Amino acid sequence: MFIEPKTIIHEPKVGWIELICGSMFSGKTEELIRRVRRAVIAQRKVKIFKPKIDIRYHKIKVVSHNKNEIQSVPVANPLEILKLIEGEEDVIAIDEAQFFENSLVDVVTELANDGYRVILSGLDMDFEGKPFGVIPGLMGIAEYVTKLHAVCKRCGNIASFSYRLTESNKQVLLGEQEEYEARCRRCFIIGMEEKRNKLTSQKITF
Ligand code: ADP
Ligand code: MG
Repeated sequence: MFIEPKTIIHEPKVGWIELICGSMFSGKTEELIRRVRRAVIAQRKVKIFKPKIDIRYHKIKVVSHNKNEIQSVPVANPLEILKLIEGEEDVIAIDEAQFFENSLVDVVTELANDGYRVILSGLDMDFEGKPFGVIPGLMGIAEYVTKLHAVCKRCGNIASFSYRLTESNKQVLLGEQEEYEARCRRCFIIGMEEKRNKLTSQKITF
């Protein structure tokens, strides 16, 4: 489990970057909420952001799959985060970071350099098992990277893939348990093969 680092307070203050990554249902949002709640107990001032496009559960709350929730500010792009910071915050948390553009790397670097503790969470792989957008860049610059795992819905092994149950090919398809399930590598490969075979047989039929 992640324990907040003990830091020597230098003046001017410098911050750091934490990234929580993994598949869908791996507990990223829960972990982000846990860290935020601990920061609040430690009397730190926290501001939480999420991408505007993600309103699956709630417009202005970050909500985990098991309905744990916390107030947040929805933003359209990383620059908006910089604009909304008032200067008195100690911790900046950002959920669903994979939906932001690559400029998020520069924005969070600037925040950490300016003394903020930045906690991000996001999907490290898309529905095809490919690295997801800005997340690999964030892995590179973060001081602390935590990779979480879900449970494979097919066999119960450790899951690191988000298997899409529908046929869409769009990289961003907001969804829940009807659209996605967590799978281990083996069950993910089997599912992708089944999808390919189905496509080929459809092509032959028409
Ligand atoms: P994430 O943000 O990584 O998508 P959340 O933090 O929102 O995940 O939710 C994690 C919760 O999802 C777990 O505590 C559990 O209650 C639930 N859950 C549903 N399906 C699974 C699964 N296949 N493996 C693990 N947890 C699951
Ligand atoms: Mg989440």
